[in-house]
This record gives sequence, C-alpha cells and structure tokens, in this order.
Amino acid sequence: MDALIGLPADELERVRAVVQPLQAAGLVPDRAEFPGDAMRMLTEAGALTAPLPIAAGGLGLGTERHRGGVLLDFLHLLGQAGLPLGRLLEAHVNALRIVVRYGNADQQAFVAEAVRGGALFALWVTDPPENGLRVTAQGDAMVLVGAKMFCSGAGHASHALVTAEYHDETRLLIVELGAGERVSPLSASLSGMRAAVTGQVDFTGIATSADRVVGSADDYLREPDFSAGAWRSSAVALGGLYRLLDLLRTQLTDRGRAADPHQRARFGQALIGHETGRLWLERAGRMAEDGEADDAAIVATVGLARIAVERACLDGVELVQRSLGLAAFMTSNPVEQVARDLETYLRQPAADEVLHNAAGYFMLNGLPVPS
Ligand SMILES: Cc1cc2nc3c(=O)[nH]c(=O)nc-3n(C[C@H](O)[C@H](O)[C@H](O)COP(=O)(O)OP(=O)(O)OC[C@H]3O[C@@H](n4cnc5c(N)ncnc54)[C@H](O)[C@@H]3O)c2cc1C
Repeated sequence: MDALIGLPADELERVRAVVQPLQAAGLVPDRAEFPGDAMRMLTEAGALTAPLPIAAGGLGLGTERHRGGVLLDFLHLLGQAGLPLGRLLEAHVNALRIVVRYGNADQQAFVAEAVRGGALFALWVTDPPENGLRVTAQGDAMVLVGAKMFCSGAGHASHALVTAEYHDETRLLIVELGAGERVSPLSASLSGMRAAVTGQVDFTGIATSADRVVGSADDYLREPDFSAGAWRSSAVALGGLYRLLDLLRTQLTDRGRAADPHQRARFGQALIGHETGRLWLERAGRMAEDGEADDAAIVATVGLARIAVERACLDGVELVQRSLGLAAFMTSNPVEQVARDLETYLRQPAADEVLHNAAGYFMLNGLPVPS
C-alpha cells in the first residue's frame, strides 16, 4: 500500500467529498465555458496545491516518488467529477512536475508561491502546422513569436509552461497570462470536452528572459517522462468510464431493467474493462512515479496501459449506449455528455505507434514480469 505512505488520507477525502456535489449540481458545462465554480470547489479542497512537493505545502502528487497510487486515485476522482476538470488539473500536475524536475530553485519557489495563491498552470506543447512557437532575439531581449493550438484552459490558466524552438532546440518556458489574453478559438470547435476551453494562443511579441527558461535543451522530450505522462491522462479517462458505469447502473435500476440477463452481461463486461484498465494503470503509475525501472520498460508499460484504458473506455461507451438505447443520446441525459467527452479526450497522440513500440519492446526483451 505505497499509496498511503506518509499521506494525510483526509486530503484525498476532501477531493472525494467534492466530486458528488459537483456531479449532482452539473457544474461542468457542455459548452466552451470555464468551469469556474467547480474549479473553486476543487481549489478549496486542495486540488491545485496537491501536486506541489510536500516541503512546499503540497502532497507531492506527480512531483515526488512513490505517490503513484494516490495520484491514480486523485486523477480518477477528477475524471469522475468531470473529464474537462480532470484535463485541466492533469495539465496542472504535468506542468508542476516538469518545473520540479528541471527548474532551478528560484523557478520552483516562484511556481509554488503562485500555486499557493490559486494559480492554475497549463502545459501547451502542440504547435499549429505553421507559425509554431519560437524564441527570437531582438537586440538584447528575448521575444516570443508564434502560437500554440489545442491549449486547454486558454484564457483561464494564469500561467503556462510552453515548448518553444530556440536556436534549433526545444526549450520550456514559463509564461504568465492575463485572463482571456491572446486567445482565439480553434478553427472548428471540438464536439466534446468543451469545458476544458481548448483554444489557440498567440504569443507573438511577449518579452521573456533567461530566468523563465526551464531546464536545458530538449528536457521536455527526455524519456521516460515524455511518454510516461500518458498514464496520468489515462487515469482521468478511466474516471470518466467509472462515472459512465455508475450512471448506467442507476438508470437501469430506475427503469426496472437491472435484472435483465443481457443488461447484466453488458454491465459485467464493462466492469471487467474498467478494472483491467485500473490494474494496468496501477502498474504503469507505480513504475512511472517510482522511476526505479529501466526507462524503456517504463515507456513500454505505460504504452500498453494507455491502449488498455483506451480500449476499455471505447468498449464501455458502446456497452453503455447499447444498454440505454436512445436515452443515451438525449442531451438531457448526463450519459450523453460524458460519453462524448470521453470519446474526444481519448484522442491522444500517435496511438498506433505507441502500441507498435510497446509491443516491440516486450517482443525483444521478454514478457512483463507478473506482479
Ligand atoms: C480535449 C483535449 C485537450 C487538449 N489539450 C491540450 C493542451 O492543453 N496542450 C497541448 O499541447 N495539447 C493538447 N491537446 C492535444 C493533444 O496533445 C494531441 O495533440 C492531440 O490529442 C492529438 O490527437 P490526434 O488523435 O489527432 O493524434 P495523432 O497523433 O494525429 O493520431 C491520429 C491518428 O493518426 C495516426 N498517426 C499519427 N501519426 C501518424 C503518422 N506519422 N503516419 C500515419 N498515421 C499516424 C495515429 O496512430 C492515430 O491513429 C488536447 C487534446 C484534446 C483532445
């Protein structure tokens, strides 16, 4: 039970206590509107500070070793509360992890103080096909030119960690942003995950400086962290599946259909899928957060875990929709939004390549050791 070592269980309980009221109040909108009330509740419950190192007033989730089990619970709970909320906070965890891992003491202190003051961090790394973000020299000054796309929390995250090209290297920079600043919508809106307010941000003209540059060249791409972070978005996604199965159970019961053998078979299959995903994530999360295994083994295990969760979720959505029929497609039914959010959120980079590489690793090195 490494999950509970040294951690105040009530911190997680506080987040758990927020999830149900959030769900009941429907505080995660199905439109491109930042879930401000929900985020305030989570902030009060300690969700923003949880990823800070313990010495900085947090729980070390994502920033300290041996916290994989608790981080899994935390992200799964956020996914239950609402996938867009989970996406926003998963990015916050990822950004803080990078600063703690690669940033200097001043940068870590700056970030910790900002987060204790309520800052939400974003991590924006996806360049548009043209006009990707780069750092240019203008006299003695460093000035940003270009944009990022698929920026979750655009206009609402107070700080972003971004990748930018600088002298043919990929560098990470901390950027502070005012509300709504420099944001434009994507060229076409996403059908799900609308409340993650994913837009484009144009940074052209923002002056930056060497003390905002985190780590050294290509740190962002350094393995195993670059690939292994996928276990955390999978943990949020799996929380979305759990919410869907909970809604299915309630709705079948309310309609007097819970004893039907076909419904039970589908429900059982979906539960098996969820638990399979959870077991994969337990293993992958432990390996990624402990950092004691071989780098390539961590990346391959996280890769298979990601694909296992993706499959469990896609199958789960199909089973839930088959079980509820047209009711699952009525916009008044929360199932409709959660399924759509989940199907959107599952689109993560290069799924085929991840499976190919992970399978290749175990093909060459032997099967994972049962644990
Ligand atoms: C809700 C949401 C929020 C997001 N928020 C952020 C954010 O805050 N910051 C950020 O940086 N990004 C964000 N992203 C973007 C994300 O990081 C990925 O860029 C995006 O999800 C990629 O998805 P994709 O399915 O288009 O991936 P792709 O990698 O394009 O995959 C699509 C398909 O093409 C295949 N494929 C990929 N490469 C090749 C190839 N070379 N040849 C042949 N086939 C190929 C894949 O296997 C897959 O089948 C967000 C995405 C979502 C959905």
